Amino acid sequence: MSDVTSQTWTPATDEYQAVLAGLRETVGACMQCGTCTASCPNEFAMDISPRRMWRMIQFGMLDEILESRTFWLCSSCYMCTLRCPRGLKLTSAMGALKRLARLDGSPRARKNGAFYEAFMADVEANGRVQEASMMNGYFLRRRDPTLPLSFIPLGLKMLSKGKLHLPSHAQRGRLGPMFAKARQMEVGS
Ligand code: SF4
Ligand code: SF4
Repeated sequence: MSDVTSQTWTPATDEYQAVLAGLRETVGACMQCGTCTASCPNEFAMDISPRRMWRMIQFGMLDEILESRTFWLCSSCYMCTLRCPRGLKLTSAMGALKRLARLDGSPRARKNGAFYEAFMADVEANGRVQEASMMNGYFLRRRDPTLPLSFIPLGLKMLSKGKLHLPSHAQRGRLGPMFAKARQMEVGS
């Protein structure tokens, strides 16, 4: 596929294997009814539907899974979890896929997760998204020096429409405890 897939990446660790095993267990009883896909408000933007994703996990298709942007687009709305007739913890499964991709550390996973991670890091640091610092974080994560140039037209357009705001530190660090708690719960899950 793309150039990012041709590079080598970090071998799977014990933690990686544990997350993967938990994930397989979580979706193991999926009967492919499709209710999760039909309920997902973000499915239109996903490259692999939730229903298909669970099947791919059952089949161990890790390469295809980690190249997907599906789980990065999950907004944890819990609709799929609430409606699954098998009572599967699907929102947690999407969270586990994000965790797996981070642990994988491959260029393919880093590419798809860069925007999500920059967004979350900015919210954690500033209490809300600040466009300039978030994009800075995104560029640093992508490690592609030419990438910022391709965003110049979008930046100018946003500037002309008053959509770029000056940095504000009024909410700085306010959400830190909430993020710390979430991390604690993730480790314990
Ligand atoms: S709603 Fe539940 S059983 Fe149906 S496809 Fe989704 S995960 Fe599988
Ligand atoms: S929790 Fe994620 S996958 Fe499930 S319906 Fe919401 S956005 Fe879709």
